Amino acid sequence: MHVLLIEDDLLVASGIQAGLAVYDFVVDPVATLTAARSAMASVSSDVVILDRGLPDGDGLSLLEEWREAGIDVPVLILTARDDVSDRIAGLQGGADDYLIKPFDLDELVARLHALLRRAAGRSRDKVMHGSLCVDPVSREVTMEGQLVVLSRRELVLLESFLKAPRSVLSIGQLKDSLYGMHDEVESNALNVHIHHLRRKLGRDVIETVRGLGYRLGKPDAVGRFSRRGQSR
Ligand code: CA
Repeated sequence: MHVLLIEDDLLVASGIQAGLAVYDFVVDPVATLTAARSAMASVSSDVVILDRGLPDGDGLSLLEEWREAGIDVPVLILTARDDVSDRIAGLQGGADDYLIKPFDLDELVARLHALLRRAAGRSRDKVMHGSLCVDPVSREVTMEGQLVVLSRRELVLLESFLKAPRSVLSIGQLKDSLYGMHDEVESNALNVHIHHLRRKLGRDVIETVRGLGYRLGKPDAVGRFSRRGQSR
């Protein structure tokens, strides 16, 4: 999951970034409204964490701007102001949730997961696809009821496929979902992750769509064939 983090306090921002990385969120940190505008135009974010007091203005004005433009990405406001009227202003401005600083990282993670669930129209955490089951909170992946251990990047990649089960995802889109704006991307890394996913979850878990990219295998094909080196 991609998080756009708009926070000018670098200590808070690096704390959030390090904390969320543990939960496999890919965080794109920016410190100003201007940087946030260009990030929103260039990266696709699943959720936004927005500080209000920023060097070039109030985060709330940016949120109102986005909502007027029809950008409906879930937004959680971080605020030092615990005034009731400030909270109401935030929610009326289009925020989906808020947290008052200082806050507990586990609570932030729980709220982000709740926002993502709501945005996906799901009421429960687990994502099922054929015999594959992914719990984004516990990070547990099972295939036909058996636990499968995935690396952080493999899980992020699998989640991108599960978010758009019928879509062909281009190599560029998949790389964007795996890496933050400032991350170095090794040229062959994506192929390696896909190879590992197929080895661990069966070769049909991801289809290659020639010249276009990759797509999640159809639910009835996922898990029925070779797994973990077994031959078909
Ligand atoms: Ca601030």
